[in-house]
Amino acid sequence: MTIITRFAPSPTGRLHVGNIRTALHNWMWAHKNGGQFWLRIDDTDAERSEERYVDAIRADLAWLGLVPDGEERQSARFHRYEARLAALHAAGRAYPAYETAQELDLKRKIAAGRGLPPVYDRAALALSDDDRARLESEGVRPHWRFQLDHDTPIEWDDLIRGHQKFDAATMSDPVIRRADGSWLYMLPSAIDDAEMGVSHVVRGEDHVSNTALQLQMFDAMGAAPPAFAHEALLVGSEGKLSKRLGSLGVDAFREIGIEPEAVRALLARIGTSDPVEPIADPERLIETFDFARFGRAPARFDDAELAGLNAKIVHAMNYDIVAPRLPAGMGETEWLAVRPNLKTVAEAADWWAVIDGEVPGDIDDADRDFLAEAVRVAGTIDWSADPWHALTGTLKASTGRSGKALFLPLRRALTGRDHGPDMAALLPLIGQDRAVARLGS
Ligand code: GLU
Repeated sequence: MTIITRFAPSPTGRLHVGNIRTALHNWMWAHKNGGQFWLRIDDTDAERSEERYVDAIRADLAWLGLVPDGEERQSARFHRYEARLAALHAAGRAYPAYETAQELDLKRKIAAGRGLPPVYDRAALALSDDDRARLESEGVRPHWRFQLDHDTPIEWDDLIRGHQKFDAATMSDPVIRRADGSWLYMLPSAIDDAEMGVSHVVRGEDHVSNTALQLQMFDAMGAAPPAFAHEALLVGSEGKLSKRLGSLGVDAFREIGIEPEAVRALLARIGTSDPVEPIADPERLIETFDFARFGRAPARFDDAELAGLNAKIVHAMNYDIVAPRLPAGMGETEWLAVRPNLKTVAEAADWWAVIDGEVPGDIDDADRDFLAEAVRVAGTIDWSADPWHALTGTLKASTGRSGKALFLPLRRALTGRDHGPDMAALLPLIGQDRAVARLGS
């Protein structure tokens, strides 16, 4: 069996960290199994769907390295939904209903008043051909409902949640098409999954009850259902589904210098029994990826954890990969020297300026004599070997200074900062002339 997964966003906004996680897991499962990962644009809602979001979804997936093997879009498949609805109607599994929204609301209120669940009473099924003809001649256009089979219990083994069981008799026949002819999510999604040969539907647990209904749709269409994996939702480090997470996406990550590798490494592992590790290579993340390792508790997204992971990923990045993003002139040696000090690749430019640019002199009066001595020593040592250890070794012997008193004034004068990359790596890059000038400024 070919493993086919799909990521099915509605293009009504940008992707956020929650749906990026779903996309990633679908991509990982397909890749782990040598299968295919499809992007399906769920754009049945013409009013709320926008082309710019379709473009942004594609661009975000590309940035994340989650490249689809193919793309479908629902707005190009309305003829399929028409055909399937006609077949379901003919088979007695879909029916037109004529109640207005107000009437349905009233029915729900009456049911609630009697302490009954708000289940649709199927009044539309009792209409005769004459009733329907009369309503339609009055200009009432029907919406359509899928008719659930109340006698067969709905059950499946969810790859994350385990055995699931629903009683169809406690559920309303879902509305699948509105009176204006537009489609709701439920049936088109099941039709697409069946016709695209989707083997695994991986999505958030907010879809569990939809799955119960869709399983009956697969059955009514004579299609084998896919396997389902419903993931626990993502919550913020503050422990709730935050608004902030809903707007946190690729743009925000890029802005603060987060690498796609860090996003993948974090989202692949949170909510699972595997530890979060700075693994840049997706193949290594895929190795241990398994729905059996997913927990039922919400997955916790923590910005600080992402930032920490990002730094570790940056520390291991090869020059070839980052070269196009570094300032002109910055070579591999410079990259390797500053890399362990970076939180983001962009910060490399700051250190390049320290190596190659003007450094504001930062000299304490108490250090003037010491630095005058440093200028003298710096002019004499062999710069091609290990100038930092030569410089500090000689100064230690001649001035008696050690530790911080020895190193800090040198670092400040040479870099204009108190902290930074290993001076032994930095000093050869700064070079003798610049070093002498900075120590003497
Ligand atoms: N468009 C649906 C959503 O974004 C897709 C759900 C599904 O994966 O079936 O919720």
